[in-house]
Amino acid sequence: MNRKVHSKEIHEAVLARLNERGVRLEEIAEIVYVMQRPYHPHLTHAACLDSVKAVLGKRELLHALLVGIELDMLAEKGMLSEPLQSLVEADEGLFGCDETLSLGAVLGYGSIAVTTFGHLDKHKVGVILRLDTKQGDGVHTFLDDLVAAVAASASSRIAHKSRDWQESEEEQAGESETGESGGAAG
Ligand code: MG
Repeated sequence: MNRKVHSKEIHEAVLARLNERGVRLEEIAEIVYVMQRPYHPHLTHAACLDSVKAVLGKRELLHALLVGIELDMLAEKGMLSEPLQSLVEADEGLFGCDETLSLGAVLGYGSIAVTTFGHLDKHKVGVILRLDTKQGDGVHTFLDDLVAAVAASASSRIAHKSRDWQESEEEQAGESETGESGGAAG
């Protein structure tokens, strides 16, 4: 029988997996801060963390995280079949499926998410660098890209939200000016 999985269960599973794999949401928020601070001088770490939490409400991103982290964990246990086991375990540079899974997951957040993902993939900011350097026994072939996908989506969300706030402030300022000058023209 097919079981209908509630999105709350998926969300909780992803948060638990990230925690198990040693990634804190604050670390992802720090990447968002580094990416967006130059464009928004008043940006706070709290706003970045809120944005990370918000994008972790999106199913496509959650599903990508579930799939990728599962493959990392199976590779760690040597449970994939060959040659996939060796490709994932070695984080083979030309494998490419880790990047494409993550890139696909950011598309819902538009071009800023795509270009930010590309930047993070190349420059390995913050926790992404720690995951990519393959220190210790862990396999993080998918996780480094997935963390970049979450950070890129949250960065794009801030870019768009910030413009929305700016525009609504301008509209309000415009309305109060009209009010002061004696109301709407008849
Ligand atoms: Mg990778």
